[in-house]
Amino acid sequence: MKVGCHLSSAGGYLAMAQTAESIGANVFQFFTRNPRGGAAKPIDRNDVAAFLDYAAEKGIGPILAHAPYTLNAAGAEPRVREFAEEVMIDDLKRLELTPGAMYNFHPGSHVGQGAEEGIRLISNHLQRVVRRVLGDLSSEHRSIGASEHLSTVVLLETMAGKGSECGRSFEEIRAIIDQTESAFRRSTFNPQPSTFSLGVCLDTCHIWDGGYDIVNDLDGVLEEFDRVVGLGRLKAIHLNDSMNVLGAHKDRHEKIGKGKIGLEAFRRIVNHPKLRDLPFYLETPCDLQGYKEEIALCKSLRGNS
Ligand SMILES: [Zn+2]
Ligand SMILES: [Zn+2]
Repeated sequence: MKVGCHLSSAGGYLAMAQTAESIGANVFQFFTRNPRGGAAKPIDRNDVAAFLDYAAEKGIGPILAHAPYTLNAAGAEPRVREFAEEVMIDDLKRLELTPGAMYNFHPGSHVGQGAEEGIRLISNHLQRVVRRVLGDLSSEHRSIGASEHLSTVVLLETMAGKGSECGRSFEEIRAIIDQTESAFRRSTFNPQPSTFSLGVCLDTCHIWDGGYDIVNDLDGVLEEFDRVVGLGRLKAIHLNDSMNVLGAHKDRHEKIGKGKIGLEAFRRIVNHPKLRDLPFYLETPCDLQGYKEEIALCKSLRGNS
């Protein structure tokens, strides 16, 4: 079972992998920089090399980098959108140093412009980001081993629909993917859709708060996801319980089994044939001992359904 949690990136990559190992995790998530969006620390190549060796030896990965949650690719002001663009370009270039990583982001909030306009802005954002990253990597940064293909899979996180969040339904996620990929297909120059991978990170708390009943109808929700988005796009699960009732559109995480989703639903989630091989990331904030216990709990749910 691939299971882990959100870890502090303060000590670098190797430290995160060692911490993961010490609490029984074989995957982990981290913020690429201060979650409120400050400058990222310079990459230490020795740390990256040591991490890659250690991760290969211990079977750790895929790692999931989380963009600062304050980025808003759908912001109304150009300044806000440009900031989101610069941060994501920088993050993705850095992540090419750790091949096979995934990069998760909150699609954005349309702040009153309407969901349709929000989705258009997010799609434009992704197009510009991917073009710039591939362009930069293939010229100035060839030395870091860039290829014509972005090795990092970019994931759209399913959102609870708090405020004006985009990505509140499977249809909105699908619309972002479609607009982005069809724009690339229409363009006469690179990148084509095949040069990068766009996937989805499903957050159990968010979709529950968004109105998808994973407690009473997990099969139905997954069938709907498959029909609207396609299960092939699903690359990661954020495993969080919720403080709120179905459809509350609140986004308040709770530890596994302590919230309204409940332990039995999580037992079905981690054992579901369509989900069980995906990496599960716990992210309800707690100390390492708490995460260690939560990881052990998830493993104990496995194979017991
Ligand atoms: Zn998130
Ligand atoms: Zn999440």
